[in-house]
Amino acid sequence: MSTAIPHLQIAIDGPAGSGKGSVAAEVAKTLALPVLDTGLLYRFVAWQVHENNCPIDDEAAIKTLVEQQLSAMDWRSDGIFFDGKDCTSRLRGEDVGALASQVSALPAVRQQLLAVQQTLASHGCVMDGRDIGTVVLPQAQAKFFLTATLRERGRRRWLQLSDQAKRQQTLDDVIADIQARDQRDSERSHAPLAQADDAIVIDSTIMRIDEVVERVLHILQRRRLIH
Ligand code: C5P
Repeated sequence: MSTAIPHLQIAIDGPAGSGKGSVAAEVAKTLALPVLDTGLLYRFVAWQVHENNCPIDDEAAIKTLVEQQLSAMDWRSDGIFFDGKDCTSRLRGEDVGALASQVSALPAVRQQLLAVQQTLASHGCVMDGRDIGTVVLPQAQAKFFLTATLRERGRRRWLQLSDQAKRQQTLDDVIADIQARDQRDSERSHAPLAQADDAIVIDSTIMRIDEVVERVLHILQRRRLIH
C-alpha cells in the first residue's frame, strides 16, 4: 500500500473502453483515495431525462429536471444512489451511454455537474472522465490520458456485455456505437473529450490493466506524489 500526499488529485481521461474506469479504481484502491467516475453522473442525467420523457433538445426543461433530481442523488466511490437506492447497474448499459453522450453536450448540464464534481474532488481523489484534466480539475497534480485502438476498445466493451446483450449486438455494432459516441464527445463545442497539454498519454491497446496501473503508480512515485 502506498500513501498519497495530502489532497492529491489524479485526473484520468480517455475515450469509451480505454480502460480508464478500471485503472482509476485500482489506483484509488492502492492509494486509499476516493474514486469518482464522472461518466456515471452524465449517465444519471440521461436516465432521468429518459424516465421523465424530457425532450433531448429542451435544454431549459433538462436544466430544471437536473436541479430537482440532484438533491435526491448521492454520488459515491461505489456508485450512484437515487432516493436511497443503488441505481449504478441500471446506468451501465450502452443505451444510457449513448443518451449520456447527447445530454452531456448541453452547456447547462455541464455547468450544473461541474460544481458537483469540483466540490467532491476538493479533498483529493482519482477522477475519471473526458474533461477532468482540462476543465474540471485543471490544477490536478497528475493527469493521464488513456487511449487504445477503436477495435480493441470495442472488443473490451463487447466482452463486458451480458450473453443476452451479445445476441442483440454484434462486435461491429458495438464498435460503431463507440465510434459515434467518441465523435460526438470530441466534436462538441463545450468541454470536449480532450487531452490536457500536461497529461501523460498511455496507449493501453496491448497492455493489461495491472500493467497500466503499475505505470501510473511508477510515474506518481517518480514525481514524489506518493510514497
Ligand atoms: O465514461 P462513460 O462511458 O460512462 O461516459 C458516458 C458519457 O458521458 C460519455 O460518452 C460522455 O458523453 C459523457 N461524459 C462527459 N464528460 C465526462 C464523463 C462522461 O461528457 N467527464
